Amino acid sequence: MDFELNETQKSVQKIMREFTEREVAPLAEEIDRKQEIPPELMKKLADIGYFGMRYPEEYGGTNLDTVAECVAIEELAKGSLSVAFAGTMQAFQCTDFIYLFGSEEQKQEWLVPAVKGEKYGAFCLTEPGGGSDLSILKTTVKVEEDSCIINGTKTFVTNGPVADWYITAVMAVKEKGFWGIDFIVVPKGTPGLLIGKNIPKSGLRGVKNCELMYDDCKVPLKNALAGVGEGKGGAYLQGILAEIRLITGALGLGLTRAALDVAMDYAGERVAFGQPISRWQGIAFKIATIATELEAAKTFLYYGAWLMDKKIKEVGTVKGRMDPQVVKISSMAKNFACELAQRAVDEAMRIHGGYSMSEEMPVNRLWRDAGGLLWGGGTTEINNLVIVRELYRERKRK
Ligand SMILES: Cc1cc2nc3c(=O)[nH]c(=O)nc-3n(C[C@H](O)[C@H](O)[C@H](O)COP(=O)(O)OP(=O)(O)OC[C@H]3O[C@@H](n4cnc5c(N)ncnc54)[C@H](O)[C@@H]3O)c2cc1C
Repeated sequence: MDFELNETQKSVQKIMREFTEREVAPLAEEIDRKQEIPPELMKKLADIGYFGMRYPEEYGGTNLDTVAECVAIEELAKGSLSVAFAGTMQAFQCTDFIYLFGSEEQKQEWLVPAVKGEKYGAFCLTEPGGGSDLSILKTTVKVEEDSCIINGTKTFVTNGPVADWYITAVMAVKEKGFWGIDFIVVPKGTPGLLIGKNIPKSGLRGVKNCELMYDDCKVPLKNALAGVGEGKGGAYLQGILAEIRLITGALGLGLTRAALDVAMDYAGERVAFGQPISRWQGIAFKIATIATELEAAKTFLYYGAWLMDKKIKEVGTVKGRMDPQVVKISSMAKNFACELAQRAVDEAMRIHGGYSMSEEMPVNRLWRDAGGLLWGGGTTEINNLVIVRELYRERKRK
C-alpha cells in the first residue's frame, strides 16, 4: 500500500494551493457579496490549465489522473466553493461528456475552446418536476430530416447565464425511461432557446444558475451526442456519474478544511471563563472530531479516485468509470465527504457563537455554501440507493 501522492500529483497540489491562496481566497468574500465570479479569474483558471487537466494534449490538456484532479479541486474549494463549483462544471462535468462521448468534430467545436476558457458549457438535466428521477424527464425531441426540435424546461443550470452551449438531456424514447434519454448540444443564440435570470441562492452565490426554456428550439442533428433514439444517452450518463461523485466529494473535503481552519482560528483567540475556548473540552472535542473525520474522508475519497484510475488502466476509460466497485465506493465517498462538510460547518458555526450569524464572518459563507454539495452528483438518499443496489449485486456475483 502506498498512501503518498506521486510527484505529478504533489506538483498539482502545490500549484493549486499557491494559486488559491494568491488569486482566489482573497476574493472569496467579495464574490459572495457581489454574487459574481470575475470573468478574469475564470480565465486565470484556464491559463493555469485547470480546465484541461483531464484531457490529452491534443485537446489542449495535460492528461492528469483522477487523483490529481481531486487534489486540484480540493485545494480550490478550500479558497472558494463558488469558484470551485463553477470551475469544476467547466473543467469536468460538461467537457468530460464531450470528451468521452463526442465525435472528433464535436470535440474540436466545443471541448477545445472550453479548455482554453474561450467558451463556457453547461449541463442541463434537472427539470422543474425533479432532478433525482430522470426516468420522467419531460423535455422532448422530434427529429425532422437533419434537425432536432426540442421543447421543455430545465432548471438550476450551473453557469447557465454565462454559458455558450448547453448539453441538454431530452427524453427521446419515453417508454424506455432513463435508457430513453439522449443528449444534444444547444448553442446560445439558437432561436427558441430562452435563458432565464440568475436564480438567487442562499449559498454558492458566486455561481450563476438559471432556468432554460426550449420552445420549438431547432438544432442540427449533428449536435446530438451519438444520435437520437438509439438508447445510448442513459449509458453515457452512467459513465460519468462515478467521476462526478468523486469530484463533488473533493469539493466537500476543501470546504471541510476551510471550516476547520476558521473554527481553529476563532477558538484559539476567543476567550471565555479566563482561557481561549479551544482549551475547553466541549470545544476541543468538536475540533478533534472534525479533524479526525476529515482524515478519514480524505483517505476514503482518494482511495476511490485511485481505484477509478486503476480500473481505467485495466479496462478502459469509460468502463473503468462504470466498474461496480468504483460506482459503490464513489457513492459512499461522496456521501461521507459531503455529509461531513455539513457537520463541519455546523460545528464551526457553534464555535463562533452569535457572530456566526453575521454575513461578515467567513464561517457564515461556508455554512451557506455547504448546502450546495448535497445536490450535485446525486443526493445522499439517491447515492445510498446506489450503494445498496451494488451491495446486493455483489452478493449475487459471489
Ligand atoms: C447549486 C446547485 C447547482 C445545480 N446545478 C445543476 C446543473 O448544472 N445541472 C442540472 O441538471 N441540475 C443542477 N442542479 C440540480 C440538482 O442536480 C438537483 O437539485 C438534484 O438532482 C436533486 O433534484 P431535486 O432538487 O429536484 O430533488 P428531488 O429529486 O425532487 O428530491 C427531493 C428530495 O427527495 C429525495 N428523494 C428523491 N427520490 C428518493 C427516493 N427514491 N428515495 C429516497 N429519497 C428520495 C431526494 O434525495 C431529496 O432529498 C443544481 C442544484 C443546485 C442546488
